Order: sequence, then structure tokens, then C-alpha cells
Amino acid sequence: MEKKTHIELQALAVLKRFFGYDSFRPGQAEIITTVCAGRDCAVLMPTGGGKSLCYQIPALIQPGMAVVVSPLIALMNDQVQALQANGIPAASLHSGQADAENAAVIEQIRHGQIKLLYVSPERLLIEMERWPSAMRISLFAVDEAHCISQWGHDFRPEYTRLSRIKELFPSVPVIALTATADKLTRADIISQLRLSRPAVFISSFDRPNISLTVMQNPGRPKKLSLISALIDRYADDSGIIYCISRKATEQMAAELSVRGYSVAVYHAGMSASARNRAQSDFIHGRVQVVCATVAFGMGIDKSNIRYVIHNNLPRNIEGYYQEIGRAGRDGLPAEALMFYSFADVATLRHFIEEGEREKINMEKLSRMVDYAETGVCRRRVLLSYFSEPTDHDCGNCDVCLSPPQRIDGNIIAQKALSAIVRTGERVGVSMLVDILRGSSRADLIARGFDRIKTYGAGRDLSAPEWKAYLGQMLQLGLFEIAYDEGNRLKLTSAGSRVLRGELPVVLSKFYFERPAGPEPKTSAGRAEETRRSAPDDAALLRELKRLRADMARIQGIPPYVIFSDRTLQDICRRRPTSREEFAAVFGVGEVKTERYWTHFTRVVRLFESKKN
Ligand code: ADP
Ligand code: ZN
Repeated sequence: MEKKTHIELQALAVLKRFFGYDSFRPGQAEIITTVCAGRDCAVLMPTGGGKSLCYQIPALIQPGMAVVVSPLIALMNDQVQALQANGIPAASLHSGQADAENAAVIEQIRHGQIKLLYVSPERLLIEMERWPSAMRISLFAVDEAHCISQWGHDFRPEYTRLSRIKELFPSVPVIALTATADKLTRADIISQLRLSRPAVFISSFDRPNISLTVMQNPGRPKKLSLISALIDRYADDSGIIYCISRKATEQMAAELSVRGYSVAVYHAGMSASARNRAQSDFIHGRVQVVCATVAFGMGIDKSNIRYVIHNNLPRNIEGYYQEIGRAGRDGLPAEALMFYSFADVATLRHFIEEGEREKINMEKLSRMVDYAETGVCRRRVLLSYFSEPTDHDCGNCDVCLSPPQRIDGNIIAQKALSAIVRTGERVGVSMLVDILRGSSRADLIARGFDRIKTYGAGRDLSAPEWKAYLGQMLQLGLFEIAYDEGNRLKLTSAGSRVLRGELPVVLSKFYFERPAGPEPKTSAGRAEETRRSAPDDAALLRELKRLRADMARIQGIPPYVIFSDRTLQDICRRRPTSREEFAAVFGVGEVKTERYWTHFTRVVRLFESKKN
């Protein structure tokens, strides 16, 4: 007990000195004390939860060098840069770096000058064999540890050879970290890394600062105006738009460019250099938005991503949660907005049929659709999916903020179902909607659908509305989509009963726009919101951002490596004018105090004097 307290105090001092933070996030302190006690750990924490400090702090407290295994070169460089900016001797070894640079790092390691070494698995397997057993190694951290498992979604064969760590250095603690691991993957991580009696830490997966909104595709123009509104709401910050295909990323980027936004495109079909440029433009804040496929984002540690938009339904909840988790890592309010449609489901089913593990993936897709169509608090659905059910609604999702308005759906359902029957169950969703709305498209006329009784019976509703109601009816089991027969619609027995008037139907009203904008309801969010709304804060914040951008450009580092948005907001709130006051700001450690206090306090002083 005594000893624990001592380590904890030491950890807090290091946290303040190097990172400028005053307290640990849930889980961090326990993990740090456990690692410092020399015990192996398995850590499950959501993206943005604060995994890095769990090994960085022990690395700083203990003698010797900590070794961090990471699968992503971009991530390594990012982390090393951020650590160096805080005055921590960190370096990396990997194939993406010049030989001379790697040689210099090896020399520094030999002289005991490195506290934190980031290394790719294949490189570690080579280097490690050469290290003398007397070499002081404080710990091994295996980041993205789910890559070791075939059960996981990102298997990397090199990871399976990491069991060699325990053979060579049996007494050095190993800490395995991941943001996604089901029970099987977890067991796999522990056994493959040969962790001995590891302490397992599973943090809450809740990210309450991310608001959740899901809507049926409201049609292209409306969708673009909703996206524009979101970009405008965070004009000084940035976001990601995930699209279903490479072509779709380019189309989206073109539409947004036309509207005057600065946009980058990212997908696996681009050359490595074009991808690096897009990623770097995004990281350095030179573009507002990246239109990307899911290939984008792994290892992006940008803390001020304010929104993540899914232009289409994601394949599964795991992927969706990881993608939206890239927003709001700084803990400030952020938004996740998703659009989906029938067409997405058909496309995704098609992808899945062509891939492996069809049965599991279809099941995962159908859980994704359930989430999209849910009438209860979305966060509850997500958390229960990750086996973390809660007993209260979140107050920060579209369902909580504007609960679905129930409407009598009998007429709507009967029109649609009778049209399905009258076409002989031979049409898909878009044809059905066109029939209901009385379209004169050529193939409709050619097939004689303009002569059926329900032709044009649904002119009172727009196509997006029809699609939304059909989605709900599908979810209610009133009809099915025969995916193996050209996606044609077939009535179910429940559907027949509705047609006969034996079963009443209640639907939720479809809105083109949510009646109220997402208002963060978490206490942290609310506090931030009032703070932000102080009259001249916005003007000062803009000046601070400009200073940060200039300094980043001069030093050739991303703006957030200098300070996070949260730090700039804290400067606005505290208005520090002296070195001491500046040192107390959130996220300002010793090195950054020395390096930046004169510049930033000058801006504050000038701003205050202009005001008076
Ligand atoms: P993960 O690796 O789990 O996705 P990170 O380690 O990158 O998350 O942490 C996410 C963000 O939270 C970073 O910007 C980090 O500086 C910040 N952070 C982590 N722990 C704390 C803390 N105790 N206090 C304040 N900020 C923190
Ligand atoms: Zn909710």
C-alpha cells in the first residue's frame, strides 16, 4: 500500500512535468502501478482512451529503455515527434527510415540515451537478438496487440513471432494494448505473447463526448447541405468522411471542392506518395476534410478531429465504433453522423458474399442495420454490443435528443405492401418507390406497372421518406428482400395480415432534419460549451490558433504536436500572462513552458490590452 502510493505520486509528478496534465484518466493509474511493479498486463481501452501514457509513464519512471512494438510507421513517427516535443528522448527503428538514421539510433541505444524506442515487429525480431542480456530494458509494450490474433480483424503474421520477447527477456514486464478485442482475441494475445499471470484491464468503451446521429439517406442535395453545415460548424477544425468505395471518395471530394471546402482524398488505390501527402495535409491542418475509404485513419493521432461522417452504412459495429472513435480524442464535444440506405445493404452483402467468413460477416452486418434502425438510445445499443450494458439513456444521440415521433403507419404500409403484391413480388426498392410515386421511367412503363392500382398512390411522400418507411417496415418484418433473387421484395405473413387490416402498424416519423441540433449533455461537454461561449474567447482562440499554425510551420511539425485545442481553450479561459500562470495550463509540461510561454502569453497580453 505504502509503496503503491509512492509510485502513484511519482507518476503524477511525471504526468505534470512531461505532459502538463493534472490527473489520470480512469484506469491509467492502476495500469501504471502494475507495470511498475513488474507485472505483465493486457489493456483494453477504446481509441482515444489514453493507452500511450500507460507505458510512457512507467518508461519515464523506471531505469533503462522501454521498447514499444507498433505495426504502423506513421503512428511511430507521430508518437516519437510528440514525445520529443515534450523533452523525452524517444526514437524509432523501422524500414521506412534511412539506414543512416537507423544506425544513429542503434548507437544512441548502445549509449543508453533512449528512454522510449518505437520499433516495427520485424525490426525488433532482428535487433533483439543482438541486445546483451545485461541491457537495461524497463518494459516491452505491444501496441495494437489484436494484430497477433487470427480471430481479430487485422491479423499480422510478424506479430506471432513476438513470443521471442519472453524467451530472451523473461523478467521484463510486457504490456499488451488494444482498442478492439473480443474474448477469443484477448485469450490469443495472452497466450501468444506468453504473458504470465497478466493483470487484465478492460476500460469502459463509452465515449460520451461523441454525439451519435444516424439517418436514412435524405437524398443527395439534402445530404450535402447537412454535411456542409457540419463542416461549417467546425470551420477551424477538421473531420473525416468515410465513403463506401474509391470512386465515391472522389465524387464526394469533388462535390465539396465545388462548394469551396479544402478537401483531400485517401484510398488504397492511390500511390503511396499521394496517400502520404493526403495524410500529412490532414494532420497539418492544410485541409478541412478527408474523403476516405476505411483504409484511412489507423494510427492517426490527431486530437482535434471534430466529426466523422459515414456516407454509407459501415460493414460492422466494430469498424464503425473504431472509426467514430477517431473524433474527439481530446475529450471535447465531437459528432458522429451516419447516412445509410437500402442500396448500401445490398452493396455490402455483395462484398461479403465474395469474401471469407460469409456467415459471421452477414450476422455482423445485420447487427449494424439493427443499430441504424433502432428506436432506443444508440449508445445503449453500442455499449451492449460490446458487453457493457448501461441502465440509462445517454442524452447525446439523436434518439435521446429527439425521440422518434410515433405515427399511424397503416395507410403507408398498406399502400406499399399492396404495391408489392400487385407487381407479383417482382421489384426491388427503387422500382417500388417509383411506382408508388407515379414515376414515368421507361422500364416501369414497359413492364406495365403504370397500370396497377397503387401506381402513384404515394405521391404525397418523397422518395427518401418512402425509403425510410420501407426500412422500418423491413425491420418490422412486413416484407423481406430476396438478396439472392435480384433484391426483389416479398411479402411475409405479417405483411399479409397488415394488408388484411388485422395488424396495426406504427412507424416513426421521418425527418429530413433533426428538430434540434445535437446539444452535448455530458457535464464535461456542458462546461466546455459555456466556457467556449464567453464573448471574446472565440477571437482570442483564433489568434492562438494562428500563432500555433505559424510555429508549426516553422518547426515543420503538426500543430497539435505543439498544443492540442484543449490547451488553447484553457489558455482562453485562464488568460495567463506570466511564465508561472502559463505552466498551469492543461497540457503544458516543463519543456513546452520554456519553449512557448513568451509567445503565447504575448498574444494574450496584446489581446487584453486591445480590449481595454
Ligand atoms: P489511445 O492510444 O488509447 O487511442 P492516446 O494515448 O493517444 O489514446 O490518448 C488520446 C489523447 O488523450 C491524447 O491526446 C493524450 O494526450 C490525451 N490524454 C491521455 N491521458 C490523459 C490524461 N490523463 N489527461 C489528459 N489528457 C490525456
Ligand atoms: Zn442516447
